[in-house]
Amino acid sequence: MSSQSSIPWFDEFVGVAYRYYDLRMNVVPLFSDRKESVSLWHDTIHWWVDPSIKIRFVEDDDQYWFIMGSDSQKPATNLSFYKVLQKSENYERFKKGHDGEAYLRLGVYTDKLLDDAKKDAVCSCGHEAQDHDEGDGDVCLFNKCDCKKFSSFQVNLLKKKKTITDIKFLDEKDVKDDPLAWNCLNVNKYSKLSKN
Ligand SMILES: [Zn+2]
Ligand SMILES: [Zn+2]
Repeated sequence: MSSQSSIPWFDEFVGVAYRYYDLRMNVVPLFSDRKESVSLWHDTIHWWVDPSIKIRFVEDDDQYWFIMGSDSQKPATNLSFYKVLQKSENYERFKKGHDGEAYLRLGVYTDKLLDDAKKDAVCSCGHEAQDHDEGDGDVCLFNKCDCKKFSSFQVNLLKKKKTITDIKFLDEKDVKDDPLAWNCLNVNKYSKLSKN
């Protein structure tokens, strides 16, 4: 077993998307910069040994910890990933539907402004682009909606993928029995709390 504690933690990605693609759920850590995602794949994830890839989810009210790590054929450039994220419908769908397997892919996230969005692109308020007024600061025209500015995004998935077969949803009280999740919370949560 590799020594989990020597692998640095990495959280400089913008989020995680969950998408059906190729008949299987995809777990997609998102980057705003394509080059960054390509080099991260090349330097780190490419060397991961598929059967050893683990993802852990630890829920905390309406948030959750996304935790991912693996043994590597190139331990010197290995990283473990984590991010504290808001629960979302896609997250819940993944939790119910993953069936013990998923593809890991990286994604590039692009913000869409009202000018270049298609008319039926959906804003984060839930209403379409055509319901937003292009003349007046992009406000949503729906009566009861208080959205002041159209915001939407597009995700492009990189082609390369790895297969994940070790997926667990944990309660925080059970984290002690899981080396990856335990190390993550120790380094990124508990030790920071005690320093503040
Ligand atoms: Zn809106
Ligand atoms: Zn709206």
